[in-house]
Amino acid sequence: MGSTDNFAFLLPAIMLIFGCTFLVVRRQGLRDAGYWAAAYFLGVAAFSMPLLSDLVSDSILSPIADALFVSAFYFYSGALLFRFGRPGFVRGRLVFCGLSVAATSYAALVAGNLPAELVINDLSCSVLLAFAVALSIRHARHLADRLLLVIAGLIVLDTVGRNIMLVFVMPSYGGTAEGFLSSNYDFMMQATASILSLLFGLSALGAVALDLIARYRGAADHDPLTGLLNRRGFDRVVADWATGAKAATGAVIICDIDDFKRVNDRFGHACGDLVIRGLAEQLSARLPKGAFAARFGGEEFVAFLPEVEIAQAAAIANAIRLDFAAADRSAFGADQAITASFGVAEHRQGDRSLHEQIGRADIALYAAKEAGRNRVMLEGEPPRDLPGIRIASAV
Ligand code: GH3
Ligand code: MG
Ligand code: MG
Repeated sequence: MGSTDNFAFLLPAIMLIFGCTFLVVRRQGLRDAGYWAAAYFLGVAAFSMPLLSDLVSDSILSPIADALFVSAFYFYSGALLFRFGRPGFVRGRLVFCGLSVAATSYAALVAGNLPAELVINDLSCSVLLAFAVALSIRHARHLADRLLLVIAGLIVLDTVGRNIMLVFVMPSYGGTAEGFLSSNYDFMMQATASILSLLFGLSALGAVALDLIARYRGAADHDPLTGLLNRRGFDRVVADWATGAKAATGAVIICDIDDFKRVNDRFGHACGDLVIRGLAEQLSARLPKGAFAARFGGEEFVAFLPEVEIAQAAAIANAIRLDFAAADRSAFGADQAITASFGVAEHRQGDRSLHEQIGRADIALYAAKEAGRNRVMLEGEPPRDLPGIRIASAV
């Protein structure tokens, strides 16, 4: 057994591990992991063909292996296209694979031309991968994605380079497969292909794992009912925002639905949920660019408006209040106007964290509740009604 045979065993073993790993990841609901798994299992099947050589003749096994390789690359390219949100070109790629299989089968079975068979098969695989890389390259946003495409690109270059070598070097071995396969060239080529294949699998796995982490992180930071940030997500965004040169200066709006226990009692909990969701939507719609909002508690929301003056924030809060009180909820059974109260606070020098400002907005909110609800109050000693804006009462 030569060193080449060792590589021949190592690569499918690695691919099998990747295939199984991607299959496990697929069960988490990540679709591109399914494409990667299919690609790796087809690769393993292709590399396993020589194991059947005692049963079936090599001249039959070889074109079957070619077909399996090109199918594997159909899925590699599909995985990349899917990952980067590109069109699948399923029919075009399938036709291309069919033509490739026909050509390699002809070269192997009819013409008996091993070099032609190898070159057609390798180049078909490269074309499939290069096509996906070319379509995806402008859509790679994260480092892991760029790395994945760079490695895919290197695989294409390596394969094309190897085939150029094959065409020029093989004749000097007298055109026999045995002479070529025992050469140093082949050892180096297999080593490079194995390393690139390993890196490709690792980078694909890394990119998919990052997707999974991002998904769980997103779920951990967001409220499922409204899609807004939750308290943890809010704290994280504030921390990210404040790590720049600027401190987290801006306005805070806090709001709470009035008499919500009665809303639940009268119209039911499901209706209550829709009311909460409605306020979240109206809040998001009115917030300026760069602002972010979170659901802090049951029917309580906090919004941070970076670099917004308190008067402007109060006007925004009032607009949300009017939207909310005027909403038509008859479709889901709430036949009465439902209102919310708001507290607004500005940044003060000496605030150690945004939570001090939120605390002052909360005091203003409490004052709004005390003063009769359905109003916007500004922080102060004592908190004051929104100046110059009429308090429109709910019907
Ligand atoms: P106030 O005007 O003083 O705010 O009166 P309130 O009745 O709104 O007072 P409170 O904040 O004590 O009541 C909040 C209620 O919100 C209590 C709880 O049953 C309800 N709630 C909390 N989370 C949810 C939720 O996710 N869905 C629904 N439907 N109700 C919720
Ligand atoms: Mg309430
Ligand atoms: Mg409350």
